[in-house]
Amino acid sequence: MFLKFLFPRICVGCGSESAWLCERCAVHVIVNKTLFARQQKGALDGVIAVTSYSSPEARGLIKLLKYRGAYDVEQALHVFVQHFVKGFFVMPVLDALVPVPLHKRRLHERGFNQAEILARVWSPILCAPVVDVLERTRYTSIQAHLPRLERLTNMRDVFSVKQPCATLKSVALIDDVCTTGATLEACAHTLKKGGVKQVFGLVFAVEE
Ligand SMILES: [Zn+2]
Repeated sequence: MFLKFLFPRICVGCGSESAWLCERCAVHVIVNKTLFARQQKGALDGVIAVTSYSSPEARGLIKLLKYRGAYDVEQALHVFVQHFVKGFFVMPVLDALVPVPLHKRRLHERGFNQAEILARVWSPILCAPVVDVLERTRYTSIQAHLPRLERLTNMRDVFSVKQPCATLKSVALIDDVCTTGATLEACAHTLKKGGVKQVFGLVFAVEE
């Protein structure tokens, strides 16, 4: 309550002082209507996205989540995700949600993993537990400027599994944004080597 008083919630859509996403703006949010935002050729079986990165409200929420570490953005995200899930009759049956891990150095700098926050939001809606089986073993610098092929090469051997995961048939990797898909692809490759049969990427926003 005290924090709420010190840092009022400003709507990412209209700037009104009410919630991170006010009810009026939530209605205008573009929620993805196609199950697969992107089909993949590699280890990843497909990318499912809640919304597009071109939506200003989505960008605002991601910024809040990632850089300000807003403690209660979860609630606003929940609205998005529920709208999204309601739009589908069939979602893949998932055994687990696996957040894309941060390297422990970056986790220390940021204090939280935004992918883990998202996984917690998804979990009750999709009735799948959050299972933290992946580990980021190599620290990679921010690579937004690199072309796709270099990003893919740079992501080789970045992740490893913490435990055998052959009991997991179908999992969704959770991340906030999918740009080239290089991170999701590297994670999917590692999970499949670890015994998982089917790996989807489930992201909040896809950059088109
Ligand atoms: Zn608003």
